[in-house]
Amino acid sequence: MENKRLPLVVAENLQKYFPTLEKGWPVKAVDGISFQVNQGETLGVVGESGCGKSTAGRLALRLLEPTAGRVLFDGTDLNTLSRSQLRGLRRRMQIIFQDPYASLDPRKTVFQTLAEPFLIHEPAMAREEMYARIRATVDRVGLRPEQLSRYPHEFSGGQRQRVGIARAIALNPDFVVCDEPVSALDVSIQAQVVNLMQDIKAEYNLTYLFISHDLRVIRHMCDRIMVMYLGNIVEMADKDVLFAHQRHPYTQALLGAIPTLRKRDARTRPLLTGDIPSPVRPPSGCPFHPRCPLCKDICKTTKPQLRSMLDGGQVACHLAEE
Ligand code: SF4
Repeated sequence: MENKRLPLVVAENLQKYFPTLEKGWPVKAVDGISFQVNQGETLGVVGESGCGKSTAGRLALRLLEPTAGRVLFDGTDLNTLSRSQLRGLRRRMQIIFQDPYASLDPRKTVFQTLAEPFLIHEPAMAREEMYARIRATVDRVGLRPEQLSRYPHEFSGGQRQRVGIARAIALNPDFVVCDEPVSALDVSIQAQVVNLMQDIKAEYNLTYLFISHDLRVIRHMCDRIMVMYLGNIVEMADKDVLFAHQRHPYTQALLGAIPTLRKRDARTRPLLTGDIPSPVRPPSGCPFHPRCPLCKDICKTTKPQLRSMLDGGQVACHLAEE
C-alpha cells in the first residue's frame, strides 16, 4: 500500500565518528545512513548492541552533532539553526531514555522534573495553568497527584519510566525518540509501559523513532522497521513485509532468534554466530561478510548499497532478490 504520510524527520547521509586514542582510527558509530520518519508513524530501529541505533536516535534529535550529513525536521535543516533557534524547536522533539533512573535528577521531585520543560519553554505561562498541565500529565501516565512530591528513588522502575514518559510529553511534542524504553524494566511490566506508549502516541498524535533490540516489542509497536549493523542500514521495510520476508542474511538471523519464528522456519534461517567486528576497523566490503553464511568474493571487497525493491523495501546485499 502506498504510504501517503508526509515526512516529519528526514536524515540524509548521517555520519558520526567518535575519536579514539589511536589517531586516524575513529569509532564509526554511524557510517552514512539516510532515512525518514513520516508523520504519525512509528519507525523501529533494531540491531545488536553497538550497531549505532542509539547514536542514530540522538543524531535525529541533534543531541549529537553529526560528523557529516544533515537532519531536516519538518522541513528545517537542523544544521542551519542557532543555539536559541534549536532550543525553540526542542519542545517539539523529545526523548525517552532506556534507564529512567539515570535520566532523572535524584535531587528533584517529580513535580520539579516536570516543571522544568515549562519553565524553559513557557516561562510566561501562569503558574495555575502549569500546575494543571502537570497534574493532567501525571494522571495520563498512571501516576497519582500526591506522587508529585516524591523523589525518583521512591518509585519502582516502571513508575520511574512513567515519569520519563510524562516529561517527554509534557509540552505536547510532535516527535519522540524512544531509546530502548522498556529494556531496563521487569518483563512483567514491559507490556504495560509499551501499551501506555502506544495509547499516548494516538492521543497526542505523536511520531516515534522506536529503538529496541527486542523484535517482539518492535513488532508490536512499529509500522516500518530499519535494521542496522555496524553503523549501516542493511534493510528497511514495512513491518508486515519484513516479518513475512527478510532479504538480508543479518535480518534473517535476527528474526531467527525469536523463538516463535524459529520453530516455524528453523531450517531456512541462518544462525547468528561470531562477534560484531570493531567499529574502529570495520571489515572491508560488506560489513556483515565475516559472519555471513552466504558470503561471496565480491562481498569481501565491495560494499553493497541500499537498493529499493518493488514492494518498497530496501536492502543492502549483493545477493538480495525481489
Ligand atoms: Fe552476505 Fe554478501 Fe549479502 Fe553481505 S553482501 S549480507 S556478505 S551475501
